[in-house]
Amino acid sequence: MADLLTFEQARQQLLEQLPTSINRPNEILPLTEADHRICATDIISPINVPAFDNSAMDGYAVRLADLSSGKPLMVAGKAFAGQPFQGEWPANSVIRIMTGAMVPAGTDAVVMQEKVQMNTDGSVSFHAIPKLGENVRRVGDDVKIGEIVLSKGSKLTSASLPLLASLGIEKVEVFPRLKVAIISTGDELVPVGQPLQAGQIYDTNRFAVKLMLQRLNCEVLDYGILPDNEAEFEKAFSAAEKQADLVITSGGVSVGEADFTKTVIERLGTINFWKLLMKPGKPFAFGKLTNAWFCGLPGNPVSAFVTFYQLVQPAIAKLSGFSQYQAPQQFKAIAATNLKKSAGRLDFQRGHYSVNEQGQIEVVPVRFQGSHMFSSFVQSNCFIVLEKDRGNVTAGETVTIEPFNFLLD
Ligand code: AMP
Ligand code: MG
Repeated sequence: MADLLTFEQARQQLLEQLPTSINRPNEILPLTEADHRICATDIISPINVPAFDNSAMDGYAVRLADLSSGKPLMVAGKAFAGQPFQGEWPANSVIRIMTGAMVPAGTDAVVMQEKVQMNTDGSVSFHAIPKLGENVRRVGDDVKIGEIVLSKGSKLTSASLPLLASLGIEKVEVFPRLKVAIISTGDELVPVGQPLQAGQIYDTNRFAVKLMLQRLNCEVLDYGILPDNEAEFEKAFSAAEKQADLVITSGGVSVGEADFTKTVIERLGTINFWKLLMKPGKPFAFGKLTNAWFCGLPGNPVSAFVTFYQLVQPAIAKLSGFSQYQAPQQFKAIAATNLKKSAGRLDFQRGHYSVNEQGQIEVVPVRFQGSHMFSSFVQSNCFIVLEKDRGNVTAGETVTIEPFNFLLD
């Protein structure tokens, strides 16, 4: 066991070895089609926002010098959003102005209408002198022309895309979507929709991985289920790797008699590492084929899911050009019950966290932690991450939790 990589070493090696994007042309997309894609260039603002000084309130545009006498002032004109005040602004007068309207040249402040007294002769009186600049939004306050608003490698989201729209940017250059081939292996596997014969099980992994890849905005190339036959593996893996940027298999990476994945990958390319000090998910393989990268998930659905989440998710972020990927946020929580754990491997147990009456975060492990028990995910909302060298946990001890992200929402 001594030469096996720890989970952290494996994640680090994988991120170091993968390139920051793949070698295919970028795409130029209209904003409406760019959700969740990754910017391939810095995006520079072509304009100032606001593009002109404008009013933050409905009220009166004033010059401080005109207010100093304390006398009522006449209203010399109006400025609406989209319809600026035109003409000369005579001394000792104010301009009626609406929110978003361009402030007339010379404006020192806008006084909100609630603070102004209207007189019967149409003049207005001010009870207090506003501060210079009050209620005026200055040009470039929000974004300055020439400023980088989004950097290369950032994700386009429902927060950042409207910002680009506000700058009048119509199209963005994005990195290509990753093409990911998925392959399940095992004589016992049956696709969903067919009846099961004795000894058969449904193919959960290909379905789960496909769902997560779709959430990660990858193009999925589905190679179906392979029987446990070395020649079939070789044929399918080499076909898949010609089409895809990343090939993900499940099953066949243990050391059983029908576990050909590793042998075949080593024939077609290289295995960079295989087997990790983590649970579930020990037999996870990472390697490189001629064209594509390779991740071999363990067959047990919980192991496949956890390794996808913890290792393939960051790998996809890196290959997609996403530069702001962060390891999932972790928090401290109090174990509400005892937890079984043997020292030597990092555990990703499934648990349910909540905030107790004292305002502390508490976590309860789900009852069944077996790596074949997928139902454990449905009752949980976080991983309980138990350090490699830690043993059993007693109720009341502090543990680390990692709330599930959008992949498991
Ligand atoms: P293997 O790594 O091929 O020995 O698989 C380990 C365990 O996971 C076996 O019990 C398999 O039946 C099961 N398994 C493998 N692939 C899948 C899959 N796609 N869906 C559900 N279970 C699987
Ligand atoms: Mg198998």
